[in-house]
Amino acid sequence: MTNNEIGLDFFNKIINNDVIYFSKISGGCINDCYRFDSSQKKYFIKINSSFNPFNEEKKGLKLLESTNTFTIPKVYKVGVEKKTAFLLMEFIDSIIPSDDFWISFGYKLAKMHSNSNKYFGLDHNNYIGSLYQENTLHVDGIDFFINCRLLSQIRLINKSSNNQLFKRFDKLFSKLNEILPNEKPALIHGDFWNGNFLVDNFGAPVLVDPAVYYGCREIDIAMSKLFGGFSNQFYESYNEKFPLEKDWQSRVDIWNLYPLLVHANLFGDSYLNQVNSILKKFN
Ligand code: ADP
Repeated sequence: MTNNEIGLDFFNKIINNDVIYFSKISGGCINDCYRFDSSQKKYFIKINSSFNPFNEEKKGLKLLESTNTFTIPKVYKVGVEKKTAFLLMEFIDSIIPSDDFWISFGYKLAKMHSNSNKYFGLDHNNYIGSLYQENTLHVDGIDFFINCRLLSQIRLINKSSNNQLFKRFDKLFSKLNEILPNEKPALIHGDFWNGNFLVDNFGAPVLVDPAVYYGCREIDIAMSKLFGGFSNQFYESYNEKFPLEKDWQSRVDIWNLYPLLVHANLFGDSYLNQVNSILKKFN
């Protein structure tokens, strides 16, 4: 189905002919997103005609919701209409954050991260963007990070033109036990950048578009730094509630190798320059 075919007819099929308005929403990196209104409700819908990541996204949203920390948009329906997969959910009207927004955001993330599990990984695989995210259960968080995060992305990169990069990764792997902390698995959002939260009408943070699993909690903190946009108060309040291990700032780049590799695989090799400079620093 092409973009031009998405319209009233498509949305009416999904909510039984009650659509009074729709508009396209920008900001999504992977799916096409729309808002549409019925006489009763405002809806947010994500659609994808190439593949269907939405059952996993729904499971992720439900898992985050089960922690009773953040507001999570209600999921109304996952399905396929005219060969196009969709995820229909509550539309969140977003407002400008108030002064204490970041404090409560930090507290809530710390509380969410205190949800632990016996193993790193998850009982099902999911997606990061449009890429498959392997969540095979591991007892050790560093092995999990190497096998299911770094190596699963490195495998998608052309080896012959990136020989040096592959060697640098091998060198880094042998050092990670000394560099990374050995913490309990924490339930993390998994794609925690500034485009994946909203501020609802009550001024509370709302999480969207997760790639959840049980991992090291520094992974979310590191990713919040990748594209910036989080205030210092956020980190202060997080640390007050659930202090990060000493020198966490020095590990941010290591954790961010994963989203950078994902970006290289999704959006092009230019992201490998950043990957290479991080590797050089730690080799
Ligand atoms: P993609 O999976 O394509 O990356 P996102 O889930 O990130 O799409 O959504 C794209 C944008 O739509 C987000 O950056 C956010 O601004 C907005 N958005 C996401 N979910 C909702 C929602 N439930 N209500 C209103 N806006 C939303």
